[in-house]
Amino acid sequence: MVRPMNLIDSASLGLPDFEPGHVWLVGAGPGDPGLLSALALHALARADTVVYDALVHPRILRLARAGAALDHAGKRGGRPSPGQPDISARLIRLAREGKRVLRLKGGDPCVFGRGGEEAMALAAAGVPFRIVPGITAGIGGLAYAGIPLTHRDTNSAVTFLTGHDSDGSAHGGLDWQAIARGAPVLVLYMALRQLPRIVERLMAGGRKPEEPAAVISKATTAAQRVLVSTLGEIAEASAESETPAIIVIGEVVRLREQLGDFGPAKDSIHRNKPKAQRNEVDLEFPSQLTPAVPLSL
Ligand code: SAH
Repeated sequence: MVRPMNLIDSASLGLPDFEPGHVWLVGAGPGDPGLLSALALHALARADTVVYDALVHPRILRLARAGAALDHAGKRGGRPSPGQPDISARLIRLAREGKRVLRLKGGDPCVFGRGGEEAMALAAAGVPFRIVPGITAGIGGLAYAGIPLTHRDTNSAVTFLTGHDSDGSAHGGLDWQAIARGAPVLVLYMALRQLPRIVERLMAGGRKPEEPAAVISKATTAAQRVLVSTLGEIAEASAESETPAIIVIGEVVRLREQLGDFGPAKDSIHRNKPKAQRNEVDLEFPSQLTPAVPLSL
């Protein structure tokens, strides 16, 4: 008998019940449905309402129980995106209506994903909830791009950061001098737009322009693209890279030469291939898309 993919044997795995009136904050991983946890599949199979973010891959939403309400947290009937308090209020309201509420977020809910804020709102409202971790793009994306996050010869530390606030307007900005000196491998989220400024600051802090760097776009999906360059050139080279994208800076990028690519797309390495020869791919992420220009080291 063929068993539908979203039905797992929750009893033999010892998974908890998804009770009515509860909210599960679940990480959906970076895109490939194969990276969903058993708990995430379990929740998808049982949720009454799935409140999801733009970064949740459409293939994952298709795993929701037939009859579950799918609610895009970013859009409501064409109206502008609701703010964070609105989303938290919606989760609380749905839970109080007795729904099993699955709050589904890309990657890990608590890595640059505001899962912490939502969990705190639920806790404050007395709504029972659970946090289910997911594979964050900065880990899953690197693995699929053949870039080990750590290697004994290159780094015994990793720094995850967001470029979103790098203009210094939020949280007082980051100490880029300290990051340049103290972080052998940097994994940047939401940083494509700010990349020229970030690169400038890292080089001002002593990072060498020849240091390898990579941009991984749409990681772990069929449209994954990996652009390999150097710190000095990555900002210009990635001008046309597609979002969502993870940027990795550090010697570990070089190891990809020996490892290759593990993305679902067989055509995701296009080193030095002229633009016209690149394969067109099935672009599965619903966002604005222009082709990247891949380089080799
Ligand atoms: N909670 C998410 C991150 C949300 S912030 C996680 O843990 O992965 C959004 C940023 O995540 C994007 O701007 C991008 O930098 C990164 N991202 C998420 N999914 C990605 C993907 N499939 N490929 C590349 N980057 C991704």
